[in-house]
Amino acid sequence: MTQARSSILDSAPVRNAGVPGHPLYNELMAHAVGLPNDPLFAQMIASQSNEVGALPPGLGLDEAGFCALLARHFPGVELALRRCEQSNDPRTDEHDDLLQLLLDERAGRDVSELWMAHIVTAACMASDHLWQDLGLWSRDQLSRLMSDNFPALAAKNVYDMKWKKFLYKQLCEREGINACRAPSCEYCTDYLKCFGPEE
Ligand code: SF4
Repeated sequence: MTQARSSILDSAPVRNAGVPGHPLYNELMAHAVGLPNDPLFAQMIASQSNEVGALPPGLGLDEAGFCALLARHFPGVELALRRCEQSNDPRTDEHDDLLQLLLDERAGRDVSELWMAHIVTAACMASDHLWQDLGLWSRDQLSRLMSDNFPALAAKNVYDMKWKKFLYKQLCEREGINACRAPSCEYCTDYLKCFGPEE
């Protein structure tokens, strides 16, 4: 039996239905409490409302998580929810390993790091650059997200590797796997795939 769940934000605030994109960002930020993740979540939500990015409904959080995120960062904002069908994900193991990596590396300063770990993991399941899949407005925003929420992990990206590649490489290193064909990045024919511009 397929289990239905209520998860997705349907873009606009109830009292501002139908106004997508940056106006929603402004709306959210008008209610923001002043935490570092406020503008990052606001960008993601505004982008999703505009069908930009690749995050699943509710930024990949369940309904309770998404409502808690709103209450924590944008108190007073209400977003319409719609129901969607839960599908079986064949990449569950990969998803869970990435999530565990991020949870293990969270800064431990704020509960929103937990939501961020789930959201970043959900975006890693998509196929574009990570900042684009998250619906952020630039790669710099993603670099800030990583440094604020997962500082020790982010600090390991000393050569500014593409973030999605970097996360998967961390997973391989955790498992003691070297999936790279070259002995070092310097001599690797795939260098641009790992370090090229993320635009
Ligand atoms: S550039 Fe080559 S060696 Fe370096 S991480 Fe990428 S695939 Fe591996």
